[in-house]
Amino acid sequence: MPGNVCMSKDIDQHHIWHPYSVMHSELPIYEVASADGVRLTLADSRELIDGMSSWWCMIHGYNHPQMNAALEQQLKKMAHVMFGGLTHEPAKTLSQQLLDITPEPLEKIFFSDSGSVSVEVAMKMALQYWQARRQPQRQCFITLRGGYHGDTFAAMSVSDPDNGMHGLFQSILPKQIFVDRPRCRFGEPCTDDDIAPLEKALKEEQGIAALIMEPIVQGAGGMWFYSADYLKKVRALCDHYDVLLILDEIATGFGRSGKLFACEHAGISPDIMCIGKALTGGYMTLAATLTTASIASTIDQGKPGVFMHGPTFMASPLACAAASASIDLLLKSDWQSNIHRIEQQLERGLAPCRALDQVEEVRVLGAIGVVEMKRAVNMKSITEAFVEAGVWVRPFGKLVYLMPPYIIGDEDLQTLTNVLVETIKIQK
Ligand SMILES: *Cc1c(COP(=O)(O)O)cnc(C)c1O
Repeated sequence: MPGNVCMSKDIDQHHIWHPYSVMHSELPIYEVASADGVRLTLADSRELIDGMSSWWCMIHGYNHPQMNAALEQQLKKMAHVMFGGLTHEPAKTLSQQLLDITPEPLEKIFFSDSGSVSVEVAMKMALQYWQARRQPQRQCFITLRGGYHGDTFAAMSVSDPDNGMHGLFQSILPKQIFVDRPRCRFGEPCTDDDIAPLEKALKEEQGIAALIMEPIVQGAGGMWFYSADYLKKVRALCDHYDVLLILDEIATGFGRSGKLFACEHAGISPDIMCIGKALTGGYMTLAATLTTASIASTIDQGKPGVFMHGPTFMASPLACAAASASIDLLLKSDWQSNIHRIEQQLERGLAPCRALDQVEEVRVLGAIGVVEMKRAVNMKSITEAFVEAGVWVRPFGKLVYLMPPYIIGDEDLQTLTNVLVETIKIQK
């Protein structure tokens, strides 16, 4: 019914906020009626190949029979129950799976409902840890420029202060210590010069509770891939200066960079780790913060004797069931060769961009393909061109990138890269 479509567009334009948007935006908003595999079907029946995995989550694609079945089964038992004083099988099963696949010393798990909250929880853990160790002056965090850790207040305080997302709030955010992002690229060694700024900050600054950073891939802060050697040195420095290391694996976790968790590229593990996004295969919102037995027991021994956090929807049974099914699917697939296949095809497919005047650089790692333009793209015209060509790609600033669902076939992936190359060619 055309009338309905029109009405829903109106209510959207006049009453509903979208991420980082204004009401009555000039930018087009497309209504999705359904989705299956790697395809979104719009309300007007057009089909788009999804190059974004719905912000990096839908690793197994949409409407996956096993994912659907897992949720339907759990739904018949219970959709939700509070986690205070109660527990359930989906949380226990998921926890065992996470213990099996995350780096060794991480064995205490705090579930929350979104990535940003898992970062808040990680930062709180670090603060309570130092309180318990009678060093309450340790209240500050050190982080890299170009990072992104979420939109809530503590998460904003450690996200890049200059890239525009959170600048408005700087004056009321806690002041953290920022160090330039590493110049050494993924695959390159890390020299003493590369690590010197971080070492200097750790040596000179007082009151640092933890270093928080995204391992190997800086995501929404600039799609930057840096040296595994740098991360290895970061771990050693944190040990040397007795600073906790929080790794935010929300974007990188569950295979995206070619390892199950990106810290594996460096063969190191954090003291606290955040996961989210692909955790549930994109089906439900769920995140988790993991830490070591020693940090957890230190927190328990300090005041007030408990860890001070507890969201209403903590460890939602439906979300846990989705996460369990997603991890099962991932581990039972040959995900490593699959990510390698996607990586090679992204490399081949995006290579022609290197010859274009508009393009600054092309970089590919795992199932992430990034074309950095010389200038910020025109969101309206580029989005319309992508949709016209039958793909869903959502750039930000100068960055046009692909992070497709892992199940994408060669042909669809080729369509994505071809369209991206052709669309970039006509950008002014
Ligand atoms: C997306 C993201 C977050 C925030 O997660 P939300 O679920 O959007 O709150 C935090 N850190 C990283 C690295 C992310 O990519």
